[in-house]
Amino acid sequence: MEGSLLGSIDAFSLSTMELFEHSPGLNDSVSSTSTGASIHLDPKETNESEQVIKHKSMPKKSDRVTPLYAMEVSKATSSKSPTRKSLEAKLVDCRFKSAGCTEKLPKGTLYETEHHQNCQFRPIPCLLQPNCSELVPYHNFLLHHMHHFVHPIFSATLNTSVIFKTEDFKDNQRWNPRWMNCYGRDFFVMVSHKLPGMWYVWVWMLGTPDEAAEYLYDVEISKSSYRKVGTFPVLSLRTTLDEIEKYEACMSMTDFQVQRISQIRESIIGSFEVDLMIYKSKGHKLSPCGQ
Ligand SMILES: [Zn+2]
Ligand SMILES: [Zn+2]
Repeated sequence: MEGSLLGSIDAFSLSTMELFEHSPGLNDSVSSTSTGASIHLDPKETNESEQVIKHKSMPKKSDRVTPLYAMEVSKATSSKSPTRKSLEAKLVDCRFKSAGCTEKLPKGTLYETEHHQNCQFRPIPCLLQPNCSELVPYHNFLLHHMHHFVHPIFSATLNTSVIFKTEDFKDNQRWNPRWMNCYGRDFFVMVSHKLPGMWYVWVWMLGTPDEAAEYLYDVEISKSSYRKVGTFPVLSLRTTLDEIEKYEACMSMTDFQVQRISQIRESIIGSFEVDLMIYKSKGHKLSPCGQ
Protein backbone atom coordinates (compact mmCIF):
# COMPACT_ATOMS: atom_id res chain seq x y z
CA MET A 1 0.00 0.00 0.00
CA GLU A 2 2.88 2.36 0.49
CA GLY A 3 2.82 3.49 -3.11
CA SER A 4 -0.87 4.28 -3.12
CA LEU A 5 -2.55 7.43 -2.04
CA LEU A 6 -4.66 5.69 0.57
CA GLY A 7 -1.67 4.15 2.22
CA SER A 8 -0.01 7.44 2.78
CA ILE A 9 -2.88 9.67 3.78
CA ASP A 10 -4.07 10.02 7.29
CA ALA A 11 -7.42 11.09 6.00
CA PHE A 12 -8.87 11.38 9.45
CA SER A 13 -6.28 13.99 10.32
CA LEU A 14 -6.97 15.82 7.09
CA SER A 15 -10.66 16.02 7.81
CA THR A 16 -10.14 17.35 11.29
CA MET A 17 -6.97 19.27 10.59
CA GLU A 18 -8.11 22.48 12.20
CA LEU A 19 -8.69 20.76 15.52
CA PHE A 20 -5.18 19.70 16.28
CA GLU A 21 -1.86 21.40 16.41
CA HIS A 22 -0.10 18.69 14.43
CA SER A 23 -1.63 16.95 11.51
CA PRO A 24 0.39 14.55 9.38
CA GLY A 25 0.47 15.68 5.80
CA LEU A 26 0.33 13.71 2.60
CA ASN A 27 3.97 12.77 2.74
CA ASP A 28 4.03 11.61 6.35
CA SER A 29 3.78 8.03 5.24
CA VAL A 30 4.26 5.55 8.04
CA SER A 31 4.73 1.89 7.41
CA SER A 32 2.42 -0.07 9.65
CA THR A 33 4.70 -3.05 9.51
CA SER A 34 7.28 -1.33 11.65
CA THR A 35 4.90 -0.77 14.55
CA GLY A 36 6.65 -2.93 17.09
CA ALA A 37 10.20 -2.33 16.02
CA SER A 38 10.92 0.57 18.29
CA ILE A 39 9.05 -0.58 21.37
CA HIS A 40 9.93 -4.20 21.93
CA LEU A 41 13.34 -4.95 23.16
CA ASP A 42 14.58 -8.48 23.00
CA PRO A 43 16.03 -9.62 26.37
CA LYS A 44 19.21 -10.66 24.59
CA GLU A 45 19.51 -7.21 23.12
CA THR A 46 19.02 -5.62 26.52
CA ASN A 47 22.26 -7.08 27.76
CA GLU A 48 24.07 -6.03 24.66
CA SER A 49 22.58 -2.58 24.85
CA GLU A 50 23.58 -2.32 28.47
CA GLN A 51 27.13 -2.99 27.53
CA VAL A 52 26.89 -0.59 24.68
CA ILE A 53 25.56 2.26 26.73
CA LYS A 54 28.32 1.84 29.32
CA HIS A 55 30.91 2.11 26.62
CA LYS A 56 32.44 5.56 26.70
CA SER A 57 32.72 5.98 22.97
CA MET A 58 29.02 5.36 22.36
CA PRO A 59 26.98 8.18 23.93
CA LYS A 60 26.50 9.92 20.62
CA LYS A 61 25.05 6.79 19.08
CA SER A 62 22.71 6.20 22.02
CA ASP A 63 21.34 9.71 21.52
CA ARG A 64 20.16 8.64 18.11
CA VAL A 65 18.03 5.69 19.22
CA THR A 66 14.35 6.35 19.74
CA PRO A 67 13.48 7.62 23.20
CA LEU A 68 11.38 4.58 24.12
CA TYR A 69 14.14 2.19 23.13
CA ALA A 70 16.52 4.27 25.14
CA MET A 71 14.18 4.25 28.10
CA GLU A 72 14.15 0.48 28.11
CA VAL A 73 17.91 0.57 28.16
CA SER A 74 18.05 3.10 30.94
CA LYS A 75 15.71 1.01 33.07
CA ALA A 76 18.05 -1.90 32.63
CA THR A 77 21.02 0.17 33.71
CA SER A 78 21.54 2.28 36.76
CA SER A 79 18.82 4.74 37.79
CA LYS A 80 21.63 7.24 38.06
CA SER A 81 22.08 7.18 34.30
CA PRO A 82 22.57 10.78 33.24
CA THR A 83 20.29 10.31 30.23
CA ARG A 84 17.31 8.93 32.11
CA LYS A 85 15.87 12.18 33.37
CA SER A 86 16.07 13.95 30.03
CA LEU A 87 14.50 10.99 28.20
CA GLU A 88 11.60 10.76 30.62
CA ALA A 89 10.98 14.44 30.18
CA LYS A 90 10.21 13.75 26.54
CA LEU A 91 7.09 11.80 27.41
CA VAL A 92 3.99 13.71 26.36
CA ASP A 93 0.26 13.22 26.77
CA CYS A 94 -1.70 11.61 23.97
CA ARG A 95 -3.21 14.27 21.73
CA PHE A 96 -6.65 12.94 22.68
CA LYS A 97 -6.18 13.24 26.44
CA SER A 98 -9.22 15.50 26.74
CA ALA A 99 -11.33 12.68 25.26
CA GLY A 100 -10.07 10.31 27.96
CA CYS A 101 -6.80 8.77 26.78
CA THR A 102 -4.25 8.43 29.57
CA GLU A 103 -1.32 7.22 27.44
CA LYS A 104 2.08 8.86 27.80
CA LEU A 105 4.00 8.88 24.56
CA PRO A 106 7.66 9.39 23.69
CA LYS A 107 7.57 12.64 21.75
CA GLY A 108 8.65 12.63 18.13
CA THR A 109 8.74 8.84 17.71
CA LEU A 110 7.06 6.46 15.32
CA TYR A 111 5.30 5.01 18.33
CA GLU A 112 3.71 8.39 19.07
CA THR A 113 2.55 8.80 15.46
CA GLU A 114 1.06 5.33 15.30
CA HIS A 115 -0.66 5.70 18.64
CA HIS A 116 -2.36 8.87 17.43
CA GLN A 117 -3.51 7.08 14.27
CA ASN A 118 -4.97 4.16 16.21
CA CYS A 119 -5.89 5.70 19.57
CA GLN A 120 -9.21 4.37 20.88
CA PHE A 121 -10.15 7.93 21.82
CA ARG A 122 -9.42 9.57 18.45
CA PRO A 123 -12.45 11.54 17.34
CA ILE A 124 -14.29 10.58 14.15
CA PRO A 125 -16.96 12.83 12.64
CA CYS A 126 -20.46 11.37 13.05
CA LEU A 127 -21.71 9.84 9.80
CA LEU A 128 -24.87 11.91 10.00
CA GLN A 129 -23.06 15.20 9.66
CA PRO A 130 -24.03 17.94 9.00
CA ASN A 131 -27.21 17.00 10.89
CA CYS A 132 -25.07 15.79 13.81
CA SER A 133 -21.81 17.67 14.19
CA GLU A 134 -20.42 15.47 16.96
CA LEU A 135 -16.88 14.13 16.89
CA VAL A 136 -17.24 10.63 18.30
CA PRO A 137 -14.39 8.77 20.05
CA TYR A 138 -13.47 5.67 18.04
CA HIS A 139 -14.42 3.27 20.84
CA ASN A 140 -17.94 4.73 20.96
CA PHE A 141 -18.47 5.07 17.21
CA LEU A 142 -20.91 2.17 16.65
CA LEU A 143 -22.91 2.85 19.80
CA HIS A 144 -23.25 6.53 18.87
CA HIS A 145 -24.89 5.56 15.59
CA MET A 146 -27.27 3.19 17.35
CA HIS A 147 -28.44 6.24 19.28
CA HIS A 148 -29.32 7.73 15.88
CA PHE A 149 -31.42 4.58 15.26
CA VAL A 150 -28.91 3.39 12.66
CA HIS A 151 -28.62 -0.38 13.14
CA PRO A 152 -26.66 -3.04 11.28
CA ILE A 153 -28.03 -5.61 8.89
CA PHE A 154 -26.01 -8.81 9.03
CA SER A 155 -25.60 -9.36 5.32
CA ALA A 156 -23.20 -8.75 2.46
CA THR A 157 -26.06 -7.64 0.21
CA LEU A 158 -28.29 -4.61 0.50
CA ASN A 159 -31.42 -3.43 -1.23
CA THR A 160 -32.63 -0.05 -0.10
CA SER A 161 -34.61 2.93 -1.37
CA VAL A 162 -33.19 6.43 -1.25
CA ILE A 163 -36.03 8.93 -0.99
CA PHE A 164 -35.43 12.59 -1.71
CA LYS A 165 -37.25 15.84 -2.28
CA THR A 166 -36.81 18.12 -5.26
CA GLU A 167 -35.37 20.75 -2.95
CA ASP A 168 -32.51 18.34 -2.12
CA PHE A 169 -31.14 19.19 -5.58
CA LYS A 170 -30.50 22.71 -4.33
CA ASP A 171 -28.43 21.77 -1.31
CA ASN A 172 -25.60 19.66 0.08
CA GLN A 173 -27.31 16.65 1.64
CA ARG A 174 -26.35 13.35 3.18
CA TRP A 175 -28.73 10.49 3.76
CA ASN A 176 -28.61 8.26 6.82
CA PRO A 177 -25.99 5.56 6.36
CA ARG A 178 -26.97 1.94 5.78
CA TRP A 179 -24.87 -0.13 8.15
CA MET A 180 -23.87 -3.58 6.92
CA ASN A 181 -22.04 -6.09 9.07
CA CYS A 182 -20.42 -8.90 7.10
CA TYR A 183 -17.06 -10.73 7.00
CA GLY A 184 -16.79 -9.65 10.65
CA ARG A 185 -16.46 -5.99 9.64
CA ASP A 186 -18.68 -2.91 9.72
CA PHE A 187 -19.48 -1.16 6.44
CA PHE A 188 -21.53 1.97 5.86
CA VAL A 189 -23.27 2.65 2.57
CA MET A 190 -23.33 6.40 2.12
CA VAL A 191 -25.39 8.59 -0.21
CA SER A 192 -24.85 12.28 -0.65
CA HIS A 193 -25.74 15.14 -2.93
CA LYS A 194 -23.15 17.81 -3.42
CA LEU A 195 -23.50 21.18 -5.11
CA PRO A 196 -23.30 22.19 -7.88
CA GLY A 197 -25.08 18.99 -8.83
CA MET A 198 -23.50 15.58 -8.17
CA TRP A 199 -24.72 12.50 -6.31
CA TYR A 200 -22.31 10.05 -4.69
CA VAL A 201 -22.91 6.52 -3.41
CA TRP A 202 -19.91 5.00 -1.64
CA VAL A 203 -19.01 2.43 1.02
CA TRP A 204 -16.94 3.26 4.07
CA MET A 205 -15.46 0.63 6.36
CA LEU A 206 -14.47 1.01 9.98
CA GLY A 207 -10.80 0.11 9.60
CA THR A 208 -7.53 1.17 8.07
CA PRO A 209 -6.99 1.73 4.32
CA ASP A 210 -5.07 -1.57 4.15
CA GLU A 211 -7.99 -3.44 5.72
CA ALA A 212 -10.55 -1.77 3.45
CA ALA A 213 -8.44 -2.70 0.43
CA GLU A 214 -9.57 -6.31 0.86
CA TYR A 215 -13.11 -5.49 -0.28
CA LEU A 216 -14.94 -4.40 -3.41
CA TYR A 217 -18.64 -3.98 -4.09
CA ASP A 218 -21.00 -4.11 -7.04
CA VAL A 219 -23.69 -1.48 -7.03
CA GLU A 220 -26.75 -0.87 -9.16
CA ILE A 221 -28.81 2.30 -9.02
CA SER A 222 -32.18 1.82 -10.63
CA LYS A 223 -35.81 2.54 -10.95
CA SER A 224 -37.99 1.03 -13.63
CA SER A 225 -36.05 0.72 -16.86
CA TYR A 226 -33.20 3.13 -16.09
CA ARG A 227 -30.19 1.92 -14.22
CA LYS A 228 -26.51 2.58 -13.62
CA VAL A 229 -24.08 -0.09 -12.48
CA GLY A 230 -20.48 -0.18 -11.31
CA THR A 231 -17.83 -1.93 -9.21
CA PHE A 232 -15.90 0.14 -6.71
CA PRO A 233 -13.41 -0.22 -3.85
CA VAL A 234 -14.58 -0.19 -0.25
CA LEU A 235 -12.84 2.73 1.44
CA SER A 236 -11.56 3.29 4.93
CA LEU A 237 -13.43 5.82 7.05
CA ARG A 238 -10.11 7.67 7.02
CA THR A 239 -10.66 8.49 3.37
CA THR A 240 -12.58 11.74 2.98
CA LEU A 241 -15.37 12.29 0.49
CA ASP A 242 -13.15 14.86 -1.23
CA GLU A 243 -10.54 12.17 -1.88
CA ILE A 244 -13.15 9.64 -2.99
CA GLU A 245 -14.56 12.23 -5.37
CA LYS A 246 -11.13 13.18 -6.69
CA TYR A 247 -10.25 9.60 -7.58
CA GLU A 248 -13.73 8.69 -8.79
CA ALA A 249 -13.71 5.81 -6.33
CA CYS A 250 -17.47 5.60 -6.03
CA MET A 251 -20.70 5.69 -7.98
CA SER A 252 -21.31 9.26 -9.08
CA MET A 253 -24.32 10.64 -10.90
CA THR A 254 -25.32 14.04 -12.16
CA ASP A 255 -28.60 15.68 -11.15
CA PHE A 256 -29.83 14.97 -14.66
CA GLN A 257 -29.05 11.25 -14.36
CA VAL A 258 -30.81 11.00 -11.00
CA GLN A 259 -33.80 12.86 -12.36
CA ARG A 260 -33.95 10.45 -15.25
CA ILE A 261 -33.45 7.31 -13.16
CA SER A 262 -35.98 8.36 -10.52
CA GLN A 263 -38.37 9.69 -13.20
CA ILE A 264 -39.05 12.66 -11.00
CA ARG A 265 -41.05 15.16 -13.02
CA GLU A 266 -43.80 17.22 -11.47
CA SER A 267 -43.68 15.33 -8.17
CA ILE A 268 -42.00 16.81 -5.07
CA ILE A 269 -40.65 13.49 -3.87
CA GLY A 270 -38.54 11.02 -5.81
CA SER A 271 -36.60 7.85 -5.10
CA PHE A 272 -34.17 5.35 -6.52
CA GLU A 273 -33.17 1.85 -5.51
CA VAL A 274 -29.67 0.90 -4.42
CA ASP A 275 -28.70 -2.77 -4.82
CA LEU A 276 -25.27 -3.51 -3.50
CA MET A 277 -23.09 -6.51 -2.76
CA ILE A 278 -19.79 -6.43 -0.88
CA TYR A 279 -17.22 -9.13 -1.55
CA LYS A 280 -13.61 -9.92 -0.81
CA SER A 281 -11.01 -9.07 -3.39
CA LYS A 282 -7.31 -9.63 -3.72
CA GLY A 283 -6.69 -6.06 -2.66
CA HIS A 284 -7.03 -2.82 -4.48
CA LYS A 285 -5.39 0.54 -4.56
CA LEU A 286 -7.23 3.78 -4.83
CA SER A 287 -6.39 5.18 -8.21
CA PRO A 288 -8.21 7.10 -10.89
CA CYS A 289 -10.65 4.72 -12.50
CA GLY A 290 -13.28 5.05 -15.14
CA GLN A 291 -16.77 3.90 -14.34
ZN1 LIG B 1 -4.42 8.02 22.90
ZN1 LIG C 1 -24.16 11.77 15.59
